[in-house]
Amino acid sequence: MQRSPSPSTMPRLHIAGIKLRFVKPPMRFPLGTSAAVVTAAPLLLVDLQTHEGIIGRSYLFCYRDSGAKAIAGVLQEAVDLVRGHAVVPLEVGELLSRRYALLGVTGIVRMALAALDIALWDALAVAANMPLARFLGAPLRSIPAYNSDGLGLMPAHEAASEAQKLLEPGYHAIKLRLGHREARKDIEVARAVRDAIGSHTDLMVDYNQALTVPEAIQRGHELADLNIYWLEEQICHSNVSGYAQISRSLTTPIQLGENLDGPESVHRVLAESATDYLMLDVARIGGVSGWLRAAAIAAVHDIPVSSHLFPEISVHLLAATPNAHWLEYVSWADAVLLEPLSAIDGVVTPPERPGLGLEWSEPEVKRWTAD
Ligand SMILES: [Mg+2]
Repeated sequence: MQRSPSPSTMPRLHIAGIKLRFVKPPMRFPLGTSAAVVTAAPLLLVDLQTHEGIIGRSYLFCYRDSGAKAIAGVLQEAVDLVRGHAVVPLEVGELLSRRYALLGVTGIVRMALAALDIALWDALAVAANMPLARFLGAPLRSIPAYNSDGLGLMPAHEAASEAQKLLEPGYHAIKLRLGHREARKDIEVARAVRDAIGSHTDLMVDYNQALTVPEAIQRGHELADLNIYWLEEQICHSNVSGYAQISRSLTTPIQLGENLDGPESVHRVLAESATDYLMLDVARIGGVSGWLRAAAIAAVHDIPVSSHLFPEISVHLLAATPNAHWLEYVSWADAVLLEPLSAIDGVVTPPERPGLGLEWSEPEVKRWTAD
């Protein structure tokens, strides 16, 4: 029997415009890290419009109000530059990277282009009526998730009780932020949390770049008997040789990567054996396109890959990632989503909905709209 190609029934999509909304829903668990205290999530909601009527969606966690405004400005201009162009994410990304090369495709520009890239991929998967994971050729497989809400810098007794609350939805793993000024306080809090959650719960620790190399090594040794799953970002993220030194000195695995800027920087970190595990942030790594490239580099080095924030997007990408490790679950976008992602017995599965499955709850978007 002859199999001849038939014309695609999928419409070829073209970029028409973009709608951006800045919202600040409150966080269920305020987060105080060694870097800042955050009580509301500054989110930029992205609706990419196509001439064919399909909407591609994405969103960004913008860290600060000024971040949301600056990213929105770049994103609006970027869409103006490619208006009418076919929805072909790699081609659009290449074109815009050249247009922004002199300003620098990093930081705010990188996040803006990533938000566009994610929305373009979403539009294609929605048009194909497939979840993004399946559109990328992956099964809708379950990914282990840890609850990363809350557990900021807080006194030991508060951390112990918050840790127990975070396990209530059925998680078997949580993340604790450390980096108190006094090392003794870090130990006290970590011990209280370990006692509260028992020995069978996985406990990750994140320092949010608070330490020096000698401090990181010293504090790593001091936590050694608490069975910490990983030690994350102890020192400035760009100090690659420092991480390599810490990694050689400690037996607890090192987690690093949420601040890596584009797939090229993943190569640099892994080539210097600076980390045991890799954590990708879909906004900083360059959207879906950047993630796929970074995941391929990690696979070459046989390094397990976890996600940073954006669980609704990351779960599709982890499903398509060799060596997928952990999904970082945060509930920060839940307030504005019609169907928030949920974990069942500690795992999250890409939903059986077209694209990323992102639909905004318009009354809640209106309620939390910020200037
Ligand atoms: Mg982190």
